[in-house]
Amino acid sequence: MPCIAATGDTSIGQMYDMGTRKQALALVTQGRSLNSVSKETGISRAALRSWQTRIEPLDWNRAVPCPRCCDTPGKPDNQTAYAYLLGLYLGDGCVSYLRRGVYFLRITCADAWPGLIDLCAEAIQIVRPANKVFRVQRQGCQSVTCFSKHWPCLFPQHGHGKKHERAIALEPWQQEIVDAHPWEFIRGLIHSDGCRITNWTTRMVGGVPKRYEYPRYFFTNKSDDIRKLFTDTLDKVGVDWTTLARGSDPFNVSVARKASVALMDTHVGPKY
Ligand SMILES: [Zn+2]
Repeated sequence: MPCIAATGDTSIGQMYDMGTRKQALALVTQGRSLNSVSKETGISRAALRSWQTRIEPLDWNRAVPCPRCCDTPGKPDNQTAYAYLLGLYLGDGCVSYLRRGVYFLRITCADAWPGLIDLCAEAIQIVRPANKVFRVQRQGCQSVTCFSKHWPCLFPQHGHGKKHERAIALEPWQQEIVDAHPWEFIRGLIHSDGCRITNWTTRMVGGVPKRYEYPRYFFTNKSDDIRKLFTDTLDKVGVDWTTLARGSDPFNVSVARKASVALMDTHVGPKY
């Protein structure tokens, strides 16, 4: 096991007293952004956001029921956070067994995109609100990690070996969530295994060179099943796509048409 250092996420449950919480939230209710309040107070955005729904400290020992392994299995409470996290998990995540029935979810996030690391930690925290979220620094990336007995319930795609070496199919309840929140799912997949790049060229217009830019989105994943989940969801929201072979392997999905890139810009945007 790697050395695990707790991050600001511990503050969600324990570090701050009620007075500090109320003062910080007061700044947010005055219309300040979570970013600016976070900068001023040193309190993480994840903590501020969680206090907006629950200001009292969580008792870490309190069992939060699992929506899947109870008498009547249902869906996670916050389906938008789940749809986004499902995209991240299918892109760059894994669920591994630790011991005594406990698993850990690990999502690998590049250091280049600190905003995405925060979003990932927030989504995990919302899906399992009573479990601590850890960030483990590695070379060039952070692993955002959380322990729970219920990750296999929430991500039944969990299994041995690499995802592209086994079949990946959504369960009906997961597909319903993706159908209800397609953009969150697409955003999660792009944030893990995708990117937005800008190609450009110059053309002479009236004797003057003019620069033209061609933004496009790429999604790259070795799993045929995961690429199909991505493109099926693109179809549902009306985004045109093509498959680009790298060598002989059709691992890349490209979105290049102007209207489709505009849709992606509205709902996904560049990484940050
Ligand atoms: Zn469960």
